[in-house]
Amino acid sequence: MATILVVEDEPGIRQMLAFAIAGDGHRCIEAADAAQANTVCTGAHPDLILLDWMLPGISGVDFARRIKGDPKTRDIPVIMITAKGDEADKVRALDSGADDYITKPFSTNELLARIRAVMRRSTTIDRRHDIVEIGGVRIDTQTHRVTINQQTVDLSPTEFKLLHFFSVHSERVHTRGQLLDGVWGNDAYVEERTVDVHIRRLRKLLEPYGCDHLVQTVRGVGYRFSDRQTNSAS
Ligand code: CA
Repeated sequence: MATILVVEDEPGIRQMLAFAIAGDGHRCIEAADAAQANTVCTGAHPDLILLDWMLPGISGVDFARRIKGDPKTRDIPVIMITAKGDEADKVRALDSGADDYITKPFSTNELLARIRAVMRRSTTIDRRHDIVEIGGVRIDTQTHRVTINQQTVDLSPTEFKLLHFFSVHSERVHTRGQLLDGVWGNDAYVEERTVDVHIRRLRKLLEPYGCDHLVQTVRGVGYRFSDRQTNSAS
């Protein structure tokens, strides 16, 4: 049983969410705005936050940023609920540090599947490889810290998992489907397109350190993580 914090100002929707979550065997804590949610986070450490984008006062995006910027709450997975469905808003939601988003209207089954997938993802990072280093990128699975030349690179949990997956399976070419399986798990709702979005973001994060070339596109197949230069890389 997990403790899930639902942050939503509309009482009808909040109750519907709480009902669905309780029905799936979890404990649900309700908050009507970011201030209430903040009090909950400092008291009971929830296992997951279901966060509405449109809130009075502090928006869901700003609250997610706050949660992910605080070392005490950074590891709590956040699923953003949004009425906005276009690519730019999805990217904005993910860039705020949210681990996933769900677009209104959605079914209870989809919501519960996403909750399960995000919780699996946050607990299934392979801890057998404590420190992996490739091409100057050092990945520490114990501290979840990525460093290049002693500088810490800030990655979201998904980017971290993607980079970690790449580093322990380097040189191999992965299709988008294989990356979905390895990084996102059996989450039927994640589209292959999502892989491209996260690859782009990972490259952008590695770029200032001159390490974006490690994430290589293999045309017609997928992606490879390698510190060797190849002609097929782009
Ligand atoms: Ca709302």
